[in-house]
Amino acid sequence: MITINEHYLKLQASYLFSDIARRVAAFQAKHPERDIIKLGIGDVTRGLPPAIIAAFHRAVDEMAADASFKGYGPEQGYSFLREAIAVHDFQSRGAEIAADEIFVSDGAKCDTGNIQELFTSDIIIAIPDPVYPVYLDTNVMAGRTGAFVDGRYQGIVYLEGTKENNFVPALPKEKVDLIYLCFPNNPTGSTITRAELQNWVDFAREQKALILFDAAYEAFIRDENLPKSIYEVPGAREVAIEFRSYSKSAGFTGTRCAYTVVPKECRAYGADGSVQMLHPLWNRRHCTKFNGVSYPVQRAAEAVYSPQGKVETKALIDAYMDNAALVCATMDKLGYDYVGGKNSPYIWVDGRMDSWAFFDMLLDKAGVVCTPGAGFGKCGNGYIRISAFNNRDRVEEAMQRLTMVLSTR
Ligand SMILES: *Cc1c(COP(=O)(O)O)cnc(C)c1O
Repeated sequence: MITINEHYLKLQASYLFSDIARRVAAFQAKHPERDIIKLGIGDVTRGLPPAIIAAFHRAVDEMAADASFKGYGPEQGYSFLREAIAVHDFQSRGAEIAADEIFVSDGAKCDTGNIQELFTSDIIIAIPDPVYPVYLDTNVMAGRTGAFVDGRYQGIVYLEGTKENNFVPALPKEKVDLIYLCFPNNPTGSTITRAELQNWVDFAREQKALILFDAAYEAFIRDENLPKSIYEVPGAREVAIEFRSYSKSAGFTGTRCAYTVVPKECRAYGADGSVQMLHPLWNRRHCTKFNGVSYPVQRAAEAVYSPQGKVETKALIDAYMDNAALVCATMDKLGYDYVGGKNSPYIWVDGRMDSWAFFDMLLDKAGVVCTPGAGFGKCGNGYIRISAFNNRDRVEEAMQRLTMVLSTR
């Protein structure tokens, strides 16, 4: 008899975005004449910059000729890309990361989901609330939680982000082994200071814990005092794995390229308490279960670091940040409390009512789709996430509609 992984049955019925899609489709079916503006899903909308497209094209042409054709590449990624990453994303900021500590992949979603297979199932996991749902769901699938009771999985240590702590969770009081952090945060857009990040690193060292740092939104950081990488903080190399992605930073959500950094000193422990290095384990896993990102895509990613690519990707992000500034200005004018939008494409708004009710109201009255905060965890209830990922005219139109609807409430 073939039996299933029963842990899958603990997962909550539907993934947040399919829930939203269902409500939007139902609304559209009922009101086919209404124009809907989507400021919901965290997907980029603008085309890839010219320098990246040119590199992408050149690499596709190389694939056509026997002499320049590429078959299987190195599973960890081509050295041209790993070298560029090490220099531009880390060494240029004083973070000591070498090319061979970088594992190129087809997504930070897969990497953040897959990494936990290196650890035993009885470890204690600390996960922010609210946060990107992938961390929690992948641990549910792996059997690291109990049942879902009153909006929370038993056995998980939730790191609460609230208005009181400015959506930067405090260190947990209990013992934890694996800590997920995401800054700039999805969904709140909150950022972490160097001193706060240092506290987490020190805590992980004391506790013999490991931090999984998701920096998918580092490109949106404009405040020079904020850390972009956890490795800018002393002591992080032993206790932190970092995830990056070109999805939001360079418009690669449909092109697919990301990477994970596992420093050589990064450690966990064997059952007997012996120190075990994670780099060789992740390397083994990556080589066994992954066959690399396509050559043209890695050439396209490399072009992000060319002089022209840097200018063009910055302009790409600037356009989204201008949208974020408009959303912030609108919320200021309407008198709604929010965080984010300054070093992040997300604006986390206190809707002052149930977040699905707020979602339904915006959809119904304004034809604007946002993301209900409750979908990101219990602490998200009462909040909505507005995304700056859209074209300028659509965001302007959406803010005009929001102003009409919310100023009369
Ligand atoms: C979008 C996003 C990612 C990127 O995932 P990819 O699989 O690389 O597209 C990672 N983490 C967070 C928090 C995100 O919002």
